[in-house]
Amino acid sequence: MGFGSDLQGRVSHEGLLSLQDAEIRLLENFRKCLILRYEADRQYASSLNKFLQQAQKLDLRDVLDFSAYHDAVSTIVKETENMVLRLRLNADALSSRTLDTLNAVISEKKALRKQYLEERNRLDSDFNKVQENVQGNKSEYLRMAEKLKLERAKYMDIQTKGKIGSKLEDARARYHKTTVKLHKLHNDYVISLKDATEFQTGYLGTTLPAFLDSHQAVQETLLHQSKFVLEDFLELTNLSSEEYQAMHRSMEDAVNKIEPTTEYTPGFITKFKSEKLSKLMFDFDDKLLDDYKGVLKPSTLQIDDATCESLQHKKSEYGDQLAASQSTMEQKTSMLQELAVEVQQLDDKVVEDHTLDNITKYVDKRKQQEILKKEIAEEKVRVERLTDLQSYISRGLDELGDNPPPVLADLQENGDLETSSNTSTSSTGKKKKFSLPNITGLRKNNQGLKSSRDDVDKSSRDDLLETGHGVRESYEHTEPGSFSNGPRTSMNVMREAGLMQDVGIPQPKSRLEDEEWFHGVLPREEVQRLLNNDGDYLVRESKNKRTNETQYVLSVYWSGYKHFIIQGDTGAWKFEGMSYPTIPELIFQQHCSGDPVTTKSQAILRTPILREEWELMNDDISLEMKIGNGNFGEVYKGVYTPKNLVVAVKTCKDTLSEEQRKKFLQEGRILKQYDHPNIVCFIGIAAQRQPVMIVMEFVAGGALLGFLRKQGKSQNKAQLTKMCLDSASGMAYLEARGCIHRDLAARNCLVGDSNIVKISDFGMSREEEEYTVSEGMKQIPIKWTAPEALNYGKYTTICDVWSYGILMWEIFSCGTTPYPGWTNGQSREKIEDGYRMPAPVGTPSEVYSLMLRCWEYQPERRPKFEEICKELKRIGKHI
Ligand code: ADP
Ligand code: MG
Repeated sequence: MGFGSDLQGRVSHEGLLSLQDAEIRLLENFRKCLILRYEADRQYASSLNKFLQQAQKLDLRDVLDFSAYHDAVSTIVKETENMVLRLRLNADALSSRTLDTLNAVISEKKALRKQYLEERNRLDSDFNKVQENVQGNKSEYLRMAEKLKLERAKYMDIQTKGKIGSKLEDARARYHKTTVKLHKLHNDYVISLKDATEFQTGYLGTTLPAFLDSHQAVQETLLHQSKFVLEDFLELTNLSSEEYQAMHRSMEDAVNKIEPTTEYTPGFITKFKSEKLSKLMFDFDDKLLDDYKGVLKPSTLQIDDATCESLQHKKSEYGDQLAASQSTMEQKTSMLQELAVEVQQLDDKVVEDHTLDNITKYVDKRKQQEILKKEIAEEKVRVERLTDLQSYISRGLDELGDNPPPVLADLQENGDLETSSNTSTSSTGKKKKFSLPNITGLRKNNQGLKSSRDDVDKSSRDDLLETGHGVRESYEHTEPGSFSNGPRTSMNVMREAGLMQDVGIPQPKSRLEDEEWFHGVLPREEVQRLLNNDGDYLVRESKNKRTNETQYVLSVYWSGYKHFIIQGDTGAWKFEGMSYPTIPELIFQQHCSGDPVTTKSQAILRTPILREEWELMNDDISLEMKIGNGNFGEVYKGVYTPKNLVVAVKTCKDTLSEEQRKKFLQEGRILKQYDHPNIVCFIGIAAQRQPVMIVMEFVAGGALLGFLRKQGKSQNKAQLTKMCLDSASGMAYLEARGCIHRDLAARNCLVGDSNIVKISDFGMSREEEEYTVSEGMKQIPIKWTAPEALNYGKYTTICDVWSYGILMWEIFSCGTTPYPGWTNGQSREKIEDGYRMPAPVGTPSEVYSLMLRCWEYQPERRPKFEEICKELKRIGKHI
């Protein structure tokens, strides 16, 4: 079987031609694919380069030189660098070696096809000539035979009639001559038949098969070369080649070297070993009693009729705390046992099935286990401490046996009492004297002390703030000797802390919402922008990610952002220390005490960060009428009541996650900074509670798209050009501020008084020079988006220029949807092929050329908004 024996016929000939055509087209198309492939590989290499740049930003070698984890990350970075290099080299080889070979094959294939056709035509024409020769001889033969028949008949006729002489002679001569000619022609015909037979034998038996076989051989040779191109392609695009595998193995080895049990012990410990913390001595300062002439003894409890009751009180209080601690410890111990079983099961599961989900669950439980262990250890210390304290007091009291406590000595006899001019205003407004300049006063008159304390407790908070100094002194002096454990109100604690005089915040309000430092449901990222200096703090509301329950969070800046969930399970609110009935009281106390919020963070509350002007109260916004449907929720017309201002309000459904709420608010945050007649004006964000709202000026004409569809036809060219100019001015303002809108379209512009156009809907905007989309392209407005953004997710202001071109087209086509009748996919394909929409009817040619410039495929060839503005102003003058 072969071309020579099986492809002689006409059909085969046609087949061979189509085969060659198809092969050439296949190769040419593959050449396009090849180009796209190495471009994509280069692109990938450049993207990976960003990975490397990011990795190089941080150099922690000095601190982490012991760390196998750090080594692993470094190896990953190094091997990724090798990978980038390899990718680049391969892409270069594809673009030179492989592409060159492919080009050569294609030209050879084209030459071969041409040569085949010419040769075949020549052979066919030779064979035809032979056949024509036979045919020619045959018809000559036939004609002569006819003539002979005629000459013979004439001659016979003359002979029959008995005529003689020249007539007969002539007839006979003609007859003879014709006979001779016929004989010659007969021979010619016989020879031509023989020649044709011989030719055919040679043509069919040798020439044609040889020609076809040689063509087959060349075809095969070229296929060989074509195959090499594909092999080369495979080799250069093989991402699992031995070389890549080696890089991967090297990374894998580095990761396998991470051994959590030896990373820190001895690794880190060897590097940072320190001496154990030495114990502090808590000894009674004997000097306190130097001038003292009474019965108090160093490090010994004083038990008399004045202190006995409070000591008993203290003892039973410790007893209660001890019981609570013991029960907590029991609970936690049994939880720990259950956890241990779960951890073991998860551990087995991880060994069996090494999935991320299993590992995460295991790590989660292990963390819980360690936290519990730590808590149990702490609880144990507390139990021991309380046991010791309780028995220390008990021992003292037990010594009394059944005897009543000794009576307190009369201080006046010792002449210790000093007079003082300190005064405090009692609740009755009567000035009361009390005089407790030193601890000995305690012993003087127990009653006196009590009444002074009562006065203090009864005083109003304002009084306390005003006369803080006096109160502080009085309280400071009462504390050292007192075992009393009165109610812990914030006032009390403030007094204890002695900070009444430098309170930095107003008194606690009864409702959290009324506190200026409460920022409602503003997300973490948003509030962080408000905290700048150590001690800045505020409170916000959020949702527990696991249980979805509402929780309150204290956000503080203290060498970085810290967020503390305010514990409130028991009906009172607390951090690590005491509980308070309301969050305002807790925060007030925490601020006044100057104590760290938690021991670990050491964060101290210094400056409450109050709501900014743009943080509106939800109650101040009354929604009147729905005017649109937004991505995150509905859009309403409403009134901002404090200023009686008509506003547009974008709401965020309260069912959305915190993440989505954050995205929703991004629009408000971006808009907040802008002030331009062609940008919709921002009024504020209401986030005191759900639903969160972005409040903007109400632009009466609504969306530009609707306006164009209803009234576009009645606008003249100058008016439409002015609308283009308005939107370009707004965009030029954004361009100058490094804001990419990403969703510029007539539906996202608004029409105000005198038909002024304002850019709106900053839901997709970014304040970056270049923004690369990583997530899917689901929500991309394809028909408005520039090719480079669609193809590589790369957004810049120049992409907005493309969208702006479409917006101009919408304006002049009175709100027609672009690429009418085409799907997104079709439009995208056509654009890639170089198609651009024709000008809508009546578009001035200069405006259309501007549109076309906005749709230049190469971004750098598009005009900037500033230039567009200038151009439109110029055009506007003579329209
Ligand atoms: P989304 O981000 O969901 O697309 P938009 O900002 O585009 O939301 O608003 C949706 C619609 O609500 C607009 O098309 C317009 O009709 C109306 N709208 C939005 N903002 C205003 C405003 N400031 N004044 C008047 N109408 C508005
Ligand atoms: Mg919109």
